Amino acid sequence: MRLSRYFLPILRETPKEAEIVSHRLMLRAGMIRQEQAGIYAWLPLGLRVLNKISAIVREEQNRAGAIELLMPTIQPAELWRESGRYEDYGKEMLRIKDRHERDMLFGPTNEEMITEIFRAYVRSYKDLPLNLYHIQWKFRDEVRPRFGVMRSREFLMKDAYSFDIDAESARHSYNKMFVAYLRTFARMGLTAIPMVADTGPIGGDLSHEFIILASTGESEVFCHKDYLEFAPPPADIDFDDRASVQGVVDKWRSLYAATSEMHDAKAFDALPDDAKVSARGIEVGHIFYFGTKYSQPMRAVVNGPDGKEVAVHGGSYGIGPSRLAAAIIEASHDDAGMIWPESIAPFHVGLVNLKVGDAAVDAACLDLYDKLSRAGIDMLYDDRDERPGAKFATMDLIGLPHQLIVGPKGLAEGKVEMKNRRSGARETLSPDEAFNKLT
Ligand code: ATP
Ligand code: MG
Ligand code: MG
Ligand code: MG
Repeated sequence: MRLSRYFLPILRETPKEAEIVSHRLMLRAGMIRQEQAGIYAWLPLGLRVLNKISAIVREEQNRAGAIELLMPTIQPAELWRESGRYEDYGKEMLRIKDRHERDMLFGPTNEEMITEIFRAYVRSYKDLPLNLYHIQWKFRDEVRPRFGVMRSREFLMKDAYSFDIDAESARHSYNKMFVAYLRTFARMGLTAIPMVADTGPIGGDLSHEFIILASTGESEVFCHKDYLEFAPPPADIDFDDRASVQGVVDKWRSLYAATSEMHDAKAFDALPDDAKVSARGIEVGHIFYFGTKYSQPMRAVVNGPDGKEVAVHGGSYGIGPSRLAAAIIEASHDDAGMIWPESIAPFHVGLVNLKVGDAAVDAACLDLYDKLSRAGIDMLYDDRDERPGAKFATMDLIGLPHQLIVGPKGLAEGKVEMKNRRSGARETLSPDEAFNKLT
């Protein structure tokens, strides 16, 4: 992409309304624009990041055996009356009427709808287990939307729903998502710790929130510090092998980690002082086993091996890609701007032309741009007629992992400069060497 032809509306001023660094940087870098309180347009650079996040989520969901579909954002109130949640959900639900005065709603989550789909088609235990997910916009009329896309009213969520014949196999489905989540967040360069979370009125021990430690987080959390060093599970884990999946989960549940709602002060105090982490955190994912909470009232039943009807055991598994965009920035930035991990970066390399109009510099830039693009590297080429200082500031702000800087002086000696955004390390190389390093 050539910057002169792109849409990257950088703000000069730091927006005053933004209280946390990710919100400030996303506004300044022209990634998002607020259209109403808690409702954002994703501008091109932001959308690239959001799509990269969703792609990783999708890959790891698929790897764990979940199957993607797409449900609508607008749901009929009928389904929610069946589960009993239409009244319970309260003001967070955006309620709508169509021209026939039918009650509808903008979905805050999809347990009811997926249960309706399941019961329409699935009849036998032989069709289980089944895990269906989608990545779709949700609406929750949050009392206090804030921190930009971190807590917005309209937000993107990946929500998966598992269906099993009994509690034991439902636990395996839960464990698979647990492992998939560990991998998903690690691939984004995040250390997300699964913490025992509130299961609400259903009870049981099966709910975990995946939390990133950050001073700007809204949750108060407590955990053993060793979790910060745990390695994520490998890509080749066999998701059908119950024992090995359980093994990973057991390891990640072996030490203390809880959200404030589930905090056991006595157990935490018993930890050695230097192992105690009491911090603030951002909830980026939440997994939940709820048994027959929806299948019973909504009659999602299958025939078991003995021919008798059984209500299926369910779980739901959420990740917030739009919140993650902000959370990754909270975890990875410096005074000059964002520092994207390679896996999420909107572009891989920022190519900076220091003297647009200089025939040799233009030619060298175009050559690198073409060759690297053809090699499959996502390039953002700053070919604007701007001061070098402004170009460097833009590149640092948007945080692409690598900067390739081409100017007349270096080029006279056959050299370009390469800067690593994270470490700040600079190397002087020939264009060919730079190409080889980046491919
Ligand atoms: P929170 O405690 O932050 O309000 P939640 O517990 O209500 O979140 P869940 O119902 O567990 O959220 O939804 C699953 C995931 O969706 C969350 O872990 C989070 O990543 C994301 N999410 C939830 N609410 C929002 C929001 N208002 N804005 C952005 N992402 C959200
Ligand atoms: Mg909430
Ligand atoms: Mg929560
Ligand atoms: Mg939650």
